[in-house]
Amino acid sequence: MKTETTIQGLAASLNPARAARKIIGFVPTMGNLHEGHLNLVREARKLCDVVVVSIFVNPIQFGPNEDFDSYPRTLEHDQHLLADVGCDIVFAPSVEQMYGNQPRLTNITVGGITNDLCGAQRPGHFDGVAVVVTKLFNIVQPNFAFFGQKDYQQLAVIRQFVRDLNIPLEVIGVPIARAEDGLALSSRNGYLSAENRAIAPTIYQSLKTAEQALQAGASLPDALANIRNTLMQAGFAVDYVEARTPELQPIEVFNQNTVLFIAAKLGATRLIDNLQIKFSES
Ligand code: AMP
Repeated sequence: MKTETTIQGLAASLNPARAARKIIGFVPTMGNLHEGHLNLVREARKLCDVVVVSIFVNPIQFGPNEDFDSYPRTLEHDQHLLADVGCDIVFAPSVEQMYGNQPRLTNITVGGITNDLCGAQRPGHFDGVAVVVTKLFNIVQPNFAFFGQKDYQQLAVIRQFVRDLNIPLEVIGVPIARAEDGLALSSRNGYLSAENRAIAPTIYQSLKTAEQALQAGASLPDALANIRNTLMQAGFAVDYVEARTPELQPIEVFNQNTVLFIAAKLGATRLIDNLQIKFSES
């Protein structure tokens, strides 16, 4: 496995594969890797000849009061994990390598689906994601790119601009990897105190309880209110508890496939999760 830190170096590493028409798979990450990330790499390994993983903590997707400076950076450990799951090339550029010294005057804004959920809470976040992912797509020029359903809205945003801008690759969504107690794996879980780590699985438990209630005929507003109450009683500060269609449109009644979304803070740590719930007429 090679590590490249420059765009030129990456091109030199990838050009032989491109010339040989190999299938290139790409997994963008911010590092501090866990099984969720590694699952994306395993999926890429199945479909592709060459697997590239980027590790880049992207400053422009963090708000001024967010955790850009303290975000965990563990490149050496990440490299070991990636070598073990068959990654071929790690791309770990500096901020300067990605953004240069000239001002950036171009932005990418995806309308509609970025207006609510995390978009409402984190202004500019999805623009920052769209810009960096587009830059990385242009740098790596993969055939397939792999993203986690953990960041459901992010995946929808990426699918949207890839379609709107005719970016020539296929986006693959990968299911959420969870700890044994149900907590969705996240680099930010490491911020949790032991006490809060024990409380954190309440998020997934409350989603599963809501799923059962909905399947048993409970109303969507009641199911959402129950999640909110459960989280508040457990000590979370709730950012949002929402239901959407799989295409992120508002939904009032559980009469089609539905996705439940949670964002909630435990102490200073903001956690997100979601659950896709199948509707079947019975
Ligand atoms: P991040 O390093 O947090 O930017 O995440 C990089 C990629 O890994 C994104 O596509 C995330 O959706 C994905 N990812 C992060 N956590 C998980 C998880 N628990 N399960 C599946 N995918 C994940």
